Amino acid sequence: MTKGFDASFLTGARSATQFPDDVGREVAIAGRSNSGKSSSINALTGRARLARTSKTPGRTREINFFRVGDDRRIVDLPGYGYARVPVDMREQWRTVLERYFRTRRSLRGLIVTVDSRRGIGELDAVMLGWAAAAGVPACVLATKADKLSRSAARAAQRSMAAAAGPSTPVILFSAPRRLGIEAAREQLCAWLNGHDA
Ligand code: GDP
Repeated sequence: MTKGFDASFLTGARSATQFPDDVGREVAIAGRSNSGKSSSINALTGRARLARTSKTPGRTREINFFRVGDDRRIVDLPGYGYARVPVDMREQWRTVLERYFRTRRSLRGLIVTVDSRRGIGELDAVMLGWAAAAGVPACVLATKADKLSRSAARAAQRSMAAAAGPSTPVILFSAPRRLGIEAAREQLCAWLNGHDA
């Protein structure tokens, strides 16, 4: 069994000039606001309050870099899809995120958190598309699976898998029930340690 990570906050960046050195390997985690991204990061790292779970969706505007070993990082990308965020700020995020995917050489994998009850939305597909364009493999965490019955969760997983495409695994996930954590950690470790599939 894989254990939690020795993870610590490295830096928060609002623009590309603030990104840490592009060396080693990193895995980015993206997701709609309130999709359970922070809870997933905390469950995966085994650090209860590493990523701030927020009562105010859309508040975190920075790209947060966490160190999980020598030149190994987990990157918490800003949540998207929050209606009350002004248009110019949304555009700014889009520019910074797109640039991150286009230029970041150490990026080895993308995890997208998607609420199992919502399915893959337009902005999730944009993230997956940017990763694919950069040749970066991706997986989807189908979060909050505990809010669905087993059969409904499996149906949600199947429709997400169809939307995400054959090379993107969809892992049923629940932070409080600790479902899917092992599978997600295995994927994360493989990307961080260089066992590219
Ligand atoms: P973020 O905005 O994507 O970072 O989402 P958060 O991690 O802050 O979670 C948003 C809300 O969903 C919080 O109230 C969490 O407690 C809740 N949540 C997150 N993951 C799960 C899950 O797997 N199951 C359940 N039932 N609730 C969850």
